[in-house]
Amino acid sequence: MTTRLHNDSDTTITIKNPADGTIVGTTNYYGAETATQVVERARAKQKEWAATPIKERKKIMLRYHDLVLKHQNELLDIIQDENGKNRRAAFEEVLDNALTARHYAYRAEKLLSPDRAKVALPIATKTQVQHAPVGVVGIIAPWNYPLVLAISDAIPAILAGNTVVLKPDSNTPMTSLRAAELFAEAGLPKDVLTVIPGSGREVGQALVEQVDYLMFTGSSATGAKLAAQAGERLIGFSGELGGKNPLIVTSDVDVDKAVSGVRHACFSNTGQLCISIERMYVHRDVADRFIPAFVRCVEKMKIGAGHDWDIDMGSLISADHADTVAEFVEDAVAKGATVATGGKRLPNIGPNFYAPTVLLNVPEDARLYREEVFGPVVYIEVVDSHEEAIAKANDTEYGLNASIFGKSSTAQEIARHLEAGTVNINEGYSAGWSSIGAPMGGWKRSGVGRRHGDGGLLKYTESRTVAEQRIVPIGGPEGLAPEKWAGLLTAALKYGRDILR
Ligand code: NAD
Repeated sequence: MTTRLHNDSDTTITIKNPADGTIVGTTNYYGAETATQVVERARAKQKEWAATPIKERKKIMLRYHDLVLKHQNELLDIIQDENGKNRRAAFEEVLDNALTARHYAYRAEKLLSPDRAKVALPIATKTQVQHAPVGVVGIIAPWNYPLVLAISDAIPAILAGNTVVLKPDSNTPMTSLRAAELFAEAGLPKDVLTVIPGSGREVGQALVEQVDYLMFTGSSATGAKLAAQAGERLIGFSGELGGKNPLIVTSDVDVDKAVSGVRHACFSNTGQLCISIERMYVHRDVADRFIPAFVRCVEKMKIGAGHDWDIDMGSLISADHADTVAEFVEDAVAKGATVATGGKRLPNIGPNFYAPTVLLNVPEDARLYREEVFGPVVYIEVVDSHEEAIAKANDTEYGLNASIFGKSSTAQEIARHLEAGTVNINEGYSAGWSSIGAPMGGWKRSGVGRRHGDGGLLKYTESRTVAEQRIVPIGGPEGLAPEKWAGLLTAALKYGRDILR
């Protein structure tokens, strides 16, 4: 289900494995003209797809679910090869894709069925809220989770009766191209999902200018620009953006149990995860035990390239990004931060590897104190109380994810005060993310809109309220004096206050 149209501005790109520089493959790379034609084809197809019974859409989605699991190893290889991540991080993507397909396949029929709504004149007015697809949904995806952040967001849009045009990131187009082939094998008709690799400037902008709804995942800077453009066009927009996610270690934490979970929270996917942890607030009562135990645990990590399941952390996405991560750390160290572990590149393993890094004593003027690094770097501050930890955790322009490690009752109380779209207790991010029935997204500059939950599908629909008046008109029955009718309505309101709730 990739596009085969060709225009002068179309070309090809070669994808390289960032972990070892080997060539992964070559694929078409399209320009704005082709993107426009693809959107037109998607638009032409949309009504027919929306008319396909929901039971048929569900069957296709469940077949896609099965195919993802059947082709799991192949997908894991593609994800790893174009992204450089370790296999367990790639497996999270396959798991998420199958879970999302299953969840919405079973949930879509109920969500798309008309709802009865409360009315002013019971019995006399019959009101139904219908859910119609928005039309063509554009998805612009980043490189860090090439299956999840592209295809998992397309799943509810497709089930809701939309057609989807998806622009993957230019570093990682192969995964979504293969997923689109699996959708075709599952029986999804041509032009319902089109994956179109291309630049943000050409293909991305063509989508922003033409689709009926834009689902964007990426940086807050790009998200703010695209939100403004979507605002100009008055189309729906969801932005899943950046984060500077805090983790709180409480005074009653079980240190030995916590450290490996905290490590996963910080370094999964080489820290290139919008919801991973970049700053940690450790209660003074446990700091002397927690910090050395955590550093020891980090130093045991196996870093490497390749498809083995036992590698704990893979490569960064590119040389540019490795430079960015190194610059963040150098800046912090120059301003007084201490490196507890890591703080260096690992050229012996591969060109873009960076050691999992724990920093202490990071001063407030260090760039990484507030800015998102998007790499395997976390800093620790010792705090004197949970209140101080909460205040520091919330002192950010972001609000995507937060995590607490400690006793349940303490952690639940802290959670109530955190300004974040998800709060994970005794987990870094996966408990919140995998709660597919619950909304997932960011406060403040971490985004607008949500994925997952019922809203994650309904956002791709427009509501149509159909209200039918029967028996008596809203303005009162023929022949009844308006004052009498007003009196009757007033009495109905008065006596109905606690009945018609
Ligand atoms: P990015 O904003 O640079 O790019 C993301 C996508 O947008 C790419 O496909 C890119 O080609 C496209 N794009 C860029 N400029 C565009 C433009 N002007 N018009 C149209 N399309 C354009 O982000 P990135 O650096 O690739 O991704 C990393 C960022 O994404 C981090 O900040 C991370 O936190 C965030 N992220 C957020 C989530 C989330 O769910 N909240 C998930 C993953 C990543």
